[in-house]
Amino acid sequence: MNYVVIPPEHHCLPIKGNKDVFPVNRIFCVGLNYKAHAIEMGMEPGNEAPFFFMKPATAIVTSEDGIMSISYPPMTENFHHEVELVVAIGPGGKNISVNEALDHIYGYAIGLDMTRRDLQLKASSRGEPWEYGKSFFQSAPIGPISTVADAGHPKDASITLHVNDQVRQSSNINDMIRGPAELISHLSSYETLLAGDLIMTGTPEGVSAVTAGDILKASIAGLGDITVSISKES
Ligand code: MN
Repeated sequence: MNYVVIPPEHHCLPIKGNKDVFPVNRIFCVGLNYKAHAIEMGMEPGNEAPFFFMKPATAIVTSEDGIMSISYPPMTENFHHEVELVVAIGPGGKNISVNEALDHIYGYAIGLDMTRRDLQLKASSRGEPWEYGKSFFQSAPIGPISTVADAGHPKDASITLHVNDQVRQSSNINDMIRGPAELISHLSSYETLLAGDLIMTGTPEGVSAVTAGDILKASIAGLGDITVSISKES
């Protein structure tokens, strides 16, 4: 049997501390998971169930040393950063309880849910899907994975994003409305999670626009940091 087209290179995340890689299957992203971010987006943070959207694995940009570059995307004048804790799923499963959810996590990484905010809000106001705003090429810069075996589960960890050495986002992952275990439990009741899936767990307040030439540095205590520079639209 031959492939009739050449498939793109499989998208993988490096593992910190060795030469292994984590092949990425799907990327689930949760919306409005920090109270103060929901408020800055004009929403009332309530007790509604979390909602998810997706990015394709081809949106990933990564590097072993956490230093990477993305191009300013086309068709936007409001390109936003969202720093997020990324959960990497090891064993899959469905209807996973909150108590057993952490057993399904292989590791954690730092990611940016890069967003064409103008396109997202325009689609949202018309009741249209968000793909143009969220699911484009290079919209998911993600650093190497710290395994649970090496680094455990991050708790009470600061999460920050600097643009050109100026702090824009600064919070703590404890401020998530729903933590990784609750997100895994909720999502797995709708969709069977599979090995290789990622969950981007939402961003804290302080999202703002970046432009070509900017250098973004994202940090989560215990996971280190990643640096993403924005180059001119190619
Ligand atoms: Mn996000």
